[in-house]
Amino acid sequence: MRIVSGIQTTGNLHLGNYLGAIRNWVAMQDAMAPGDDCLFFLADLHALTVHQEPAQLAAATIEMAATLMAAGIDTDRAILFNQARVPAHSELCWLLGGTARMGWLNRMTQWKDKAGKNREGASVGLFTYPVLQAADVLVYQATHVPVGEDQKQHLELARDIATKFNLDFGVELFPLPEPIIPAEAPRIMSLRDGTAKMSKSDPSDMSRINLIDDDDAIAGKVKKAKTDPEPLPETIERLAERPEARNLVTIYAALEGRTPAEVLGEFSGQGFGAFKPRLADLTVAKIGPIRDRLTQLLADRGEVAAQLRKGAAKAQALAAPMLRAAQDAMGLQVD
Ligand code: ATP
Ligand code: MG
Repeated sequence: MRIVSGIQTTGNLHLGNYLGAIRNWVAMQDAMAPGDDCLFFLADLHALTVHQEPAQLAAATIEMAATLMAAGIDTDRAILFNQARVPAHSELCWLLGGTARMGWLNRMTQWKDKAGKNREGASVGLFTYPVLQAADVLVYQATHVPVGEDQKQHLELARDIATKFNLDFGVELFPLPEPIIPAEAPRIMSLRDGTAKMSKSDPSDMSRINLIDDDDAIAGKVKKAKTDPEPLPETIERLAERPEARNLVTIYAALEGRTPAEVLGEFSGQGFGAFKPRLADLTVAKIGPIRDRLTQLLADRGEVAAQLRKGAAKAQALAAPMLRAAQDAMGLQVD
């Protein structure tokens, strides 16, 4: 089993990223059997589909690597690296550009959403980004790719590209990667608006708990989170029309590894005056230690960079034979 997954280097990681993605990466790493590989990369090349300030991108790459390490990614077991340092991703992306069809990319809902009405003004990278994503996984012959709901279509595209490439060049080169849809990947919503997802790009810092926040900031954000005056109900169905209340229960449940129904079993009948301090304490207890490790790691950014270099060397070694096989299949003279 070879698992490959990436995360864009576009800012501070938050509680939603942790509960929805990073925590699952750590679980997959911990469940690895001998012979398995987990490759986790910081998608700095993907970030370039919109303009990035160079100094900020450089800092974000190190900070996100440190955050992943603080959250439990172990660079001796998992392969942690930044995408730009493994040129095989970009090289295979170009090779696959001859296979992918304009029509396929035109149908990508993320492209339609992000480009909006201004397609002429969107970057070429934004359009071709799913091809790079296909290269990211195919270059390692990934068997499994953890994907959120929003990325399922891109993995389907990677499978289409792999199928057509194998067919066009008469090879059995690329296995078709399977999605892993994590069972426990709750969608965490903004603390200011229960109908919007918690997001790095939300302009309001009060909308999210950053993994770098100190204890006071965490507690303050939980206590100021938007809610309603009703007490917590007995069943989860009764939270359907109360998105903010439901979100806080979801967060509590995810942090404690219980179901929302179990949490309601404990708190039903209580108001947010009682629930929020408990949620604040729990969040501090779970996120505080990650933040403390992160702060320690960031005291030596050179060491974090060294870990990324180590990961990139391992990743490049796995990718090189695959890239070479693709080049050979296509008749490219590379030696
Ligand atoms: P941006 O606003 O720049 O899109 P983001 O906060 O959505 O940033 P991404 O880098 O797009 O973060 O996502 C990284 C990973 O975290 C993905 O696997 C995504 O599914 C997951 N994720 C992001 N936001 C949430 C959330 N609110 N709840 C659960 N999972 C999330
Ligand atoms: Mg996102």
